[in-house]
Amino acid sequence: MTTYPMPVLADEELASARARLEDADVRLLSGSVVDPAGVIRAKHVPAQRAGAFHVSGMGASPSWNVFCVDNAIAFTPRFGVVGDLRLRADLTALRVLGEGLAWAPAEMFDQSGAPAPVCTRGLLRGTVAGLAERGLDARLGCELEMVLTPRSGPGWNAYGLGALLDIEPFVLDLLAAADRAGLPIEQLHAEYGDSQLEFSISPTDPLTAADHVVLARLLACRVARRHDVAVSFSPLPFAGGSGNGAHQHLSLSLGGAPLLSGGTGPYGLTDDGSAALGGIVAGLPELTAVFAGSVLSQHRLQPGHWSGAFACWGWENREAAVRLLAATPGNPHGASVELKCIDPSANPYLAAAAFLGLALEGLAESEPLPPEVTVAPAELTAEEAARTGTVRLPADQASALEALESSDRARRLLGEEILEALMAVRRYELETYGGKDVEAVAEKLRYSWSA
Ligand code: GLU
Ligand code: MG
Repeated sequence: MTTYPMPVLADEELASARARLEDADVRLLSGSVVDPAGVIRAKHVPAQRAGAFHVSGMGASPSWNVFCVDNAIAFTPRFGVVGDLRLRADLTALRVLGEGLAWAPAEMFDQSGAPAPVCTRGLLRGTVAGLAERGLDARLGCELEMVLTPRSGPGWNAYGLGALLDIEPFVLDLLAAADRAGLPIEQLHAEYGDSQLEFSISPTDPLTAADHVVLARLLACRVARRHDVAVSFSPLPFAGGSGNGAHQHLSLSLGGAPLLSGGTGPYGLTDDGSAALGGIVAGLPELTAVFAGSVLSQHRLQPGHWSGAFACWGWENREAAVRLLAATPGNPHGASVELKCIDPSANPYLAAAAFLGLALEGLAESEPLPPEVTVAPAELTAEEAARTGTVRLPADQASALEALESSDRARRLLGEEILEALMAVRRYELETYGGKDVEAVAEKLRYSWSA
């Protein structure tokens, strides 16, 4: 895998970033990474030290990559207590958040300044560059589902107007914070679950899209603190309740021409678009542990939950892991594929890199597109499932991890180091919480993926 290093600002660009922080009265700059368990970790510097955070970086033990959802450490031969990584803030993605705080995503480097292969933002940067080498441009739009706690109790109507009004002060403050930070929100609604809210973020380049997921969680959790509520980004905030998804929408173009519309395939797919879609569907069972790999994920990834528990595709099919949205006047961003099986315990950089990587491999291999599934896949007869190649995604964490560990595709797309760290933290979850009462585990991990 090739790595494409983070851009380094020239002296005058650094000076202008510093001036921007000073003009906005920023006191503190937070630089975050998302670890393989999907948890956001950060270091912080006084604003005057922004240059040092960008150029030489702040220290982090390699064990940052094997921190677990409950802060245990799943050491591996590669990730132990000896050594040092540098977290370098990408100031090209700097956002001023107001009231003295600024944020930037960070990437991991070794002490000599070489990108660390375990860095998931670096992997996504490399994946995007790999697409560009083939003339491909990708746009990614991300959805954020979250549950506000303490719950407002009975009376929450799914998609209800009143439900939204109940939390109006929080929502209005969050929209103001998003505006100030330059986070583009497309729409929001009261989701199906009790006290569940969804925001969709506008499509943009994949690296910025994954940064936006982190920024949106930071803002939601920051604003929530002022309203005396908390926000859960757990795949299963409450046992027996609705899960939180973290769906991603991908569109692709080649030399400016869309791949998912304007062709002669189903719904206007081009040959390359069909192959990309085929690659995504084909790779899902092996990569489920990347998209929905935590100990709680499988409780969400169930038939009937609109979470995409089956590897198959279908036009506007909300029960298929891969939902195709065609280019119509009702869809101004053009055609896209939504990967529904992703949940918020997935590292968004890693999920995006795997999603794009599957599409690219499908395209490169001219992967055949299986027949469409036009009903809820759980209703397919055995013959129809065989005809459409539909399979249930691994239905428990142990099977998802086994599938990932033995996958050459995962090794190619993610690299050994990320795979080692990811397997370590998820195996820890399986061993520690796998056999326990779901209600207790949901409670214990309710805020693990919040900021
Ligand atoms: N909450 C569902 C999930 O876990 C998604 C509902 C929907 O937006 O379709 O993914
Ligand atoms: Mg939703």
